[in-house]
Amino acid sequence: MPKVPLFPVTVVGSWPRPNWLLDALKKRQNGKLSFEEFNEIADEAVLLALKYQEDAGVDIVSDGEQRRDNFYSFVVEKLDGVKLMPVAELLDYVEDKRAFEAILKSLDVPAYGIKTPTAVGRITKKMPLAMDEYQFLREHTTKAIKIPLPGPYLLTRTMWVKGVSDQAYPTKEELAKDVIQLLREEIMALRDAGCEYVQLDEPVLTEVVFKGDTEKTRTFMCAAMAAKGDPVGELQFAVRLMNKVVEGIEGINIGMHVCRGNWSRQEEVLLKGGYEPLMPYMLAMQLHQLVLEFATPRAGELEVFAKCPNVRELGLGVVNPRSDEIESPSFVVSKVKEALKYFDPQKIYLNPDCGFGTFAERPMNVPKVAFEKLKVMTKAAEELRKMYGNGGEDG
Ligand SMILES: [Zn+2]
Repeated sequence: MPKVPLFPVTVVGSWPRPNWLLDALKKRQNGKLSFEEFNEIADEAVLLALKYQEDAGVDIVSDGEQRRDNFYSFVVEKLDGVKLMPVAELLDYVEDKRAFEAILKSLDVPAYGIKTPTAVGRITKKMPLAMDEYQFLREHTTKAIKIPLPGPYLLTRTMWVKGVSDQAYPTKEELAKDVIQLLREEIMALRDAGCEYVQLDEPVLTEVVFKGDTEKTRTFMCAAMAAKGDPVGELQFAVRLMNKVVEGIEGINIGMHVCRGNWSRQEEVLLKGGYEPLMPYMLAMQLHQLVLEFATPRAGELEVFAKCPNVRELGLGVVNPRSDEIESPSFVVSKVKEALKYFDPQKIYLNPDCGFGTFAERPMNVPKVAFEKLKVMTKAAEELRKMYGNGGEDG
């Protein structure tokens, strides 16, 4: 296993996709390229994304999610019983169409561009979810690898649409059983293949917490989510699912990423609020690492960990993936110093707040800027290792 230094620099997952890859993706979605033909093209994009990370000095790399349309919809390629539906098409199944349309507009969501996976039958596996991604990356890097996977709550909540899924799965709980099994098998297979880090993405948890006051705070990812869902019940459901997925799995570092949306550069349309309301639920999940936003002021303060120092490893968001401005190394160092009030140096990882290219059609940045941001992170990590490490390397 590649040893990572103190304050490892890593990513949340996605990297902006080149235009020729987007063209290939469209052709794949229209059935004009086979799975193999598309992946041969995507191989080249993965190598580019990897090179940026390696050149920037990233310690734990991802494949930039170059083979994926987005961080959860890609499962349609790997599963039978799931269909990709444009968010706009889901409008037909939303209880309150007008309200949902208004949300899409106010949130600045390209409803026809973004697609979401929907269960249209019983889910069976055509192939593992991300083993192909891992194996290709492993052949091309000696760095530690992180594989992001959609979290069980996100997958269950997005895939179960009343009126579409209920013939195969009468309830979302029924679907959840298959989702849990799928993710458990995947994580264990990745571990057995040598993968060091898995990150389960659960960005909709913030939606559950921060909705409430106005409909505007709902996001588009769970079009079918019951408008009047009870937040406590939803969060408890998310905890149950997560713990069933990870229960007893050893030998791989399992993290969870939570953010407040990464689909718009207009900060004011993204969700806002500290982690306080989520903390009891996040800490009830048996995870090694929490990969959280902290570069954006919308995410609140690190002080939220004052009552539970060192409770988990922290993937500390230190740069904003949605801005042109390059943060300074001293900004990153000061963020880490704040985190050091609540975490030992060995527990802190440095990452951007989210991916740089979450949705294929709507990257949040260009490679050039993303690369500069990664370089700032590695520069800051070097300084921090001098300050807190023994001779710069983890003991
Ligand atoms: Zn995110």
